[in-house]
Amino acid sequence: MKEKKLSKITGMLLAGGKMLGMHCTTCMGPLFEYQGKIVCAVCGEKTKPAKTETEVTQLKKVKEALHAKLDSLAEQLAKETDQTKTPELLENIKSTLEVLKKLDEG
Ligand SMILES: [Zn+2]
Repeated sequence: MKEKKLSKITGMLLAGGKMLGMHCTTCMGPLFEYQGKIVCAVCGEKTKPAKTETEVTQLKKVKEALHAKLDSLAEQLAKETDQTKTPELLENIKSTLEVLKKLDEG
């Protein structure tokens, strides 16, 4: 049983699967990213395309950058005395907020 499990894991690696460092909720087997899907090497259960740890980390970085950008835009907006530049700043803030909202939804 244990050997069979191991051969399945090896098979997944040979097929080009990427081990994700996460475990299957059904059998606790290692989860792989294979052909864009999250697959359990042992029971073969395809889980919902969950975000990988790398994606979560990247997403967090992007969000942090966007929040920093918002801060800086808000500061500029507060200091801006040239009224002609205000719409541009507001547009920037708006689009940044839209991206953040999309990231939260996805
Ligand atoms: Zn499994």
